[in-house]
Amino acid sequence: MNTVKVLTCLFFIASTQEWGFFGHRKINELAVYTLPVEMKVFFSPNQAYFSRHAIDADKRRYASSFEAPRHYIDLDQYGNVPFDTLSRDFRTDLRNHCLFFLSTREGETIEVLPDSICKSLEFKNWFDTLAMDFYYEEQWLVPLDLSFRLDTSKYRIQVLDEFTEHGVLPYNILRVYRKLVQAFKDLDATGICRYGSDLGHYIGDATVPLHTSSNYNGQKTDQYGIHAFWESRLPEQFAKNYDEWVGAAVYVDDIQTHIWNILVESHLLVDELLTTEQQVRLQLDDELEYGVEERNGRLISTQSDTLTVLYHEALNGMIEERYRSAIHSLGSLWYSAWVDAGMPNLENVKPAFEVNSADKKGRIITRRRHFE
Ligand SMILES: [Zn+2]
Repeated sequence: MNTVKVLTCLFFIASTQEWGFFGHRKINELAVYTLPVEMKVFFSPNQAYFSRHAIDADKRRYASSFEAPRHYIDLDQYGNVPFDTLSRDFRTDLRNHCLFFLSTREGETIEVLPDSICKSLEFKNWFDTLAMDFYYEEQWLVPLDLSFRLDTSKYRIQVLDEFTEHGVLPYNILRVYRKLVQAFKDLDATGICRYGSDLGHYIGDATVPLHTSSNYNGQKTDQYGIHAFWESRLPEQFAKNYDEWVGAAVYVDDIQTHIWNILVESHLLVDELLTTEQQVRLQLDDELEYGVEERNGRLISTQSDTLTVLYHEALNGMIEERYRSAIHSLGSLWYSAWVDAGMPNLENVKPAFEVNSADKKGRIITRRRHFE
């Protein structure tokens, strides 16, 4: 008998604030202009709310270890486009990427659970119902179901989650979308504002190529810091020149496919984004690569203006395209959620009041589950 140490969704390195605060806020603000007049009656008076709360999801990363993996997915962990080793159904993909051990009631591991059990329909049902209730535990020690013909007074099943740490962004977007549909159905102003803002944040993340790669900050290619360079520094400097009118929102009938298409499009840009930066640096002398700027009263080394301008130029519109894609996708998903809710009349829905998920010390008052 040996004891297997079970580690679950504990490890996540907060990379940076995706799109920066600037980008996320602008995406939420500008998406309001894509909406039909029937929705603008609610969204326009609350436009400042949607913009201000575009970054709530990032703030929650510091209050809950469960939040971080909702912001990315390392698609390179799953082969190549179109990543068909993933079913795109959360429970199925989670189950397929967990390891299961038979263990004592106290948690001591006896053996890997045999295929005869893991592949059975009973096992699938057990996982989708009973085991999922333990998803938020740091270790899962799940009671057995009688259908396994094992002695429930002696044994448990231990679950090693090897899925969550690689990110659950697309599954999370779908979850938030469903919440938003329900909020529209309930004419729940607070819910519309909250889930609408969060949806904007996660869609924004999905349009950032480095949120789909395990090389998310260039750490594997000696390009450390490229994450914030691409999604914060460049948009902050150049977005004023971008075309912000992206057209009217459109109805999306297959939300799941739409979300995955955004992620695949993003992922296909990862190599170009990285190699372009390497090539631009090669053209520059070392002293022209870095500059110094003051932040919060401290001088810090940062990418030089020369490098910033040349990199943005060499990307040939990539950031503007992803930024515009985020705005249009968000408007379209807001619109689709409203249509899916039966196009409720929003005229008399009262403007939302401020709701905070965390108290002043940053503690979460009510921990919400990921996938309800
Ligand atoms: Zn994020």
